[in-house]
Amino acid sequence: MTPAECERIAALARSDRPLIVCDIDEVVLEFVAPFMAFLESHGHELRTTSFRLKGNIYIKETGQPVENEAVSSFLEGFFDVHDAWQKPVDEALETLTEIERTHDADIVFLTAMPPRHHARRRALLDLHGFSHPMIATEDAKGDAVAALTGDRPDRPVAFIDDLPSNHLSVLSAVPGALGLHLMAYKALAPHLPPMPEGVTNVDDWPAAAKAIADYLAARGH
Ligand SMILES: [Mg+2]
Repeated sequence: MTPAECERIAALARSDRPLIVCDIDEVVLEFVAPFMAFLESHGHELRTTSFRLKGNIYIKETGQPVENEAVSSFLEGFFDVHDAWQKPVDEALETLTEIERTHDADIVFLTAMPPRHHARRRALLDLHGFSHPMIATEDAKGDAVAALTGDRPDRPVAFIDDLPSNHLSVLSAVPGALGLHLMAYKALAPHLPPMPEGVTNVDDWPAAAKAIADYLAARGH
């Protein structure tokens, strides 16, 4: 992370504006579809019959599943070149821009990836016009959100993510947060583990914007 981006994150933690914390993969950038295309280009396929990568990647020619070790190296290989494959999710940029303007909100991206991929992903976000600061961490997302809001328990926080485990982490660490479940690759959503209680499913970005507007209105913003 550059010093400038570190300073932007520090400023977010001092702010008392509404905070929108937004996951990247499957929320701002497509992940499942481009990862499938990446695997295809290597003669493999991801079968989305259950919600996991391990055990679901097959060699196309033989129909044999690959070992877990190979799954990890495909994922690592994908992140090394993800900027050549991943595209923005429909209406993400327009909607985030509108949320920021309408609600005078702070927006931050929180992505669960090794920090060594930060620069490549930062450049990809910038290329598509997503200029908001980004935190790349493998730590629990709840800890990261709590660090941004710690001394302001009344600060409105909305958290948008596709994975139940991340919602659980954030709801435990920041109990008043609005949890929104958004997932670009719809066919996989029915295979997810159940969402924690209190998380709202939204089909697309306009629905997320509506839920955030309702939440903020109820909190006097
Ligand atoms: Mg995600």
